Amino acid sequence: RPVVAIVGRPNVGKSTIFNRLIGDRLAIVEDKPGITRDRIYGVSEWNGKAFSVIDTGGIEIDGEDTILKSIRVQAELAIEEADLIVFMCEAKSGLTNADEEVAQLLFRSGKPVILAINKVDNMKRAEDIYEFYSLGFGDPIGISGSHGTGIGDLLDAVTEKLPEPKDEEYDEDVIRVALIGRPNVGKSSLVNAILGEERVIVSDVAGTTRDAIDTPFERDGQRYVLIDTAGMRKRGKVYETTEKYSVMRAMRAIERADVVLVVINGEEGIIDQDKHIAGYAHDAGKASMFVVNKWDAVEKDDKTMQHFENKIRDHFLFMTYAPVVFLSALTKQRLHKLLPIVQHVAQQHSLRIATHLLNDVVSDAVAINPPPTDKGRRLRINYVTQVAVKPPTVVVFVNDPSLMHFSYERYLENKIRGAFNFEGTPIRIFTRRKS
Ligand code: GDP
Repeated sequence: RPVVAIVGRPNVGKSTIFNRLIGDRLAIVEDKPGITRDRIYGVSEWNGKAFSVIDTGGIEIDGEDTILKSIRVQAELAIEEADLIVFMCEAKSGLTNADEEVAQLLFRSGKPVILAINKVDNMKRAEDIYEFYSLGFGDPIGISGSHGTGIGDLLDAVTEKLPEPKDEEYDEDVIRVALIGRPNVGKSSLVNAILGEERVIVSDVAGTTRDAIDTPFERDGQRYVLIDTAGMRKRGKVYETTEKYSVMRAMRAIERADVVLVVINGEEGIIDQDKHIAGYAHDAGKASMFVVNKWDAVEKDDKTMQHFENKIRDHFLFMTYAPVVFLSALTKQRLHKLLPIVQHVAQQHSLRIATHLLNDVVSDAVAINPPPTDKGRRLRINYVTQVAVKPPTVVVFVNDPSLMHFSYERYLENKIRGAFNFEGTPIRIFTRRKS
């Protein structure tokens, strides 16, 4: 998926526009509140083209005290990460030195830039956009984040300039695997261990930079691509030390993956950042599993593994479907278990259940435990059908969607899982009216 970055100085309204861009566009995919908050990365679709959007303003750059410096860093980040840049200025305060400075950077990068002028809230302001022609990015697009005007024009301009998606994204036979996790949990070591050769340089220093590479390989007749997020492209960039930036890198890798390996350091246990990233994999509808690495270094008895697994289950209540594997990238202990599980969850992720089987399971579930009544009215399920895979997505047609409660939906999900397994993959359930 191509990436669009929004750049501009503070208070021009970047996050409002970001929210407008990722807004209600993927209604069926995203009409549920996600696990992740503070989004700086989202998905949008317009004119049949899907793309990711990054709000670079949402990435706080520590240690950059002046506004100018920090937006310069954000612009560099956007130039490095994005296929297309939306450069935002605003009509109210007009063209500023900071805008001109950023414009220079963007200009030199040669990346396609769309100039959007925010806060064009009325007719008078519409004339204020002319001075922005001098930036040299062609026609500025007047928008209003608060009124929502001009957003369609902006989206038209974005989709027109977007590069065509690459063919590799559509290769169904390949399982794309992303390894995510904090620095030093052993992601690169794991990549090396899986590939069986020193393809990635491993270092003892936390957060050491390496090249991020996608490595294709084949094992037992199955083709895979490893997406390594450990690597950062250039050493010493200010933004690379910020946590949000590494979360963002992880998000990009997750977007491109089929199966996400959430790598946890067995020596250290689980922290909030692990939860955040895993939550994103769940929200993005990816198959996932937990890999507890460095198990060789853990002092253990016959209960240690169960305890650790219980801890994982407690922390990741929303991902009870994800299998857990304990291994050591160093000694290669139990490493041979990894790829068969990856293959299994990838299959579950694209599993399609025949409508009649699904309806049998749901009718049985309803017979055992009928939907509760609400103010004397009862939910009636007419039929159920699977509308998509990756992740499996089920639509439940009912008399009145407002009568479907979270707990009953959860009950149906558990029954469906009980019958068809779906190990390692989230299931999306949507309730629609049809009598
Ligand atoms: P990354 O930042 O997640 O890619 O982590 P690295 O792969 O660079 O590993 C960080 C450190 O942990 C290195 O010193 C590795 O040698 C060490 N390490 C990685 N896997 C294991 C393991 O299974 N057991 C032990 N004891 N150490 C490991």
